[in-house]
Amino acid sequence: MSDQMGFETLQIHAGASPDPATGARQVPIYQSTAFVFRDADHAAALFNLQEVGWIYSRLTNPTVAALAERITVLEGGAGGVCCSSGHAAQILALFPLMMPGTNIVASSRLYGGTYTQLTRTIKRFGWSATLVDFDDLDAVKAAIDENTRAIFCESIANPGGYITDLDAIGKLADEAGLPLIVDNTTPTPYLCRPIEHGATLVVHSTTKYLTGNGTVTGGVVIDSGKFDWSASDKFPSLSQPEPAYHGLNFHSALGPMAYTFYTIAVGMRDLGMTMNPQGAHYTLMGIETLSLRMDRHVENAQKVAKWLESDDRVEKVTYAGLESSPYYDRVSRICPKGAGALFTFAVKGGYDACVKLIDSVELFSHVANLGDARSLIIHSASTTHRQLSDEQREASGASPNVVRVSIGIESAEDIIADLDQALAKAVS
Ligand SMILES: *Cc1c(COP(=O)(O)O)cnc(C)c1O
Repeated sequence: MSDQMGFETLQIHAGASPDPATGARQVPIYQSTAFVFRDADHAAALFNLQEVGWIYSRLTNPTVAALAERITVLEGGAGGVCCSSGHAAQILALFPLMMPGTNIVASSRLYGGTYTQLTRTIKRFGWSATLVDFDDLDAVKAAIDENTRAIFCESIANPGGYITDLDAIGKLADEAGLPLIVDNTTPTPYLCRPIEHGATLVVHSTTKYLTGNGTVTGGVVIDSGKFDWSASDKFPSLSQPEPAYHGLNFHSALGPMAYTFYTIAVGMRDLGMTMNPQGAHYTLMGIETLSLRMDRHVENAQKVAKWLESDDRVEKVTYAGLESSPYYDRVSRICPKGAGALFTFAVKGGYDACVKLIDSVELFSHVANLGDARSLIIHSASTTHRQLSDEQREASGASPNVVRVSIGIESAEDIIADLDQALAKAVS
């Protein structure tokens, strides 16, 4: 098995070989909390990180590790760590980099929950985030100060329609000597590979397209292995002796795997946001068909977006795959296989028409999720982006007159027919 094989091969085979004990062809669900040490020396070597192996499932588990390895290969990274949700992945990704008093510079276009996590919750740890428009590179540069430890954005931003110019932001992060963290949930590595555009770390909510059927929550942090943690004194947890791990200098001892080992040995050990092996199993099953599903998601989204754009009950469609989108030019460079399947559209008749539309759909499910095989719909302003002010909603693309759709892999004709009948009821 080589990392050079095609995506369609790797999504099935990476991280998995027949079980050495039984020959089981599928990755077994290793439903065990602990793993027996061969002897006392073996146990000591594992705890010293001199040997890699299984200790306790809060840290690592063979089923979960197979999933981490698979996503790492698909993203072109050096190492990865799975955890309990996408939001957990964001905290876990920041943990090795941050200390009280440090900050991150993040895009103002974010998933609603991430917006709240970064602007409110992380303050409780003494961390903070400055949010700026990532199309304004001067503003991003100006927001960086001596306490900045990372730059954060989404590749295709939720609620959709916006593609970040990752090449430009990656270059800027490089010049500032800072790691770029990219949430790649919406396109998945099939449509976009942020490491190739300069990302240091990639995070995912595996809850979404990677699992692909709305069954389990999960997250993952992938490290490119390319960042020089010792180039400045900004990342002492990685470049200096770490008191929380008996004085080990992770970067000099582990090189490109320093970040990944730190995230397991200290992050998972002490934060405990573990993915369980059952959850990992569902996501491994999902990833086997990722490319097939994403191709169909994109094909359907393109058809539905085009249809909506030509309908006079609809004011505006934000899908980046439409020529009318200001971000259309970025598609071929950042996500050459398509702009994903998540977007918003504005309905004539505003807030009330949106609510009526949501209440009238039959095939679409009204849920706070995305990336399911099923088509999903939500009115962001009254739900996921409810905590935000009007201005913040506008900035993140969740104005009161827009609904967000996650286009599924059903027949495109049926998806369109459902929107057609619901629009008829909503806009009269
Ligand atoms: C869903 C989502 C998250 C949060 O993931 P959970 O698994 O729900 O914790 C983060 N970022 C994006 C872009 C998402 O869509």
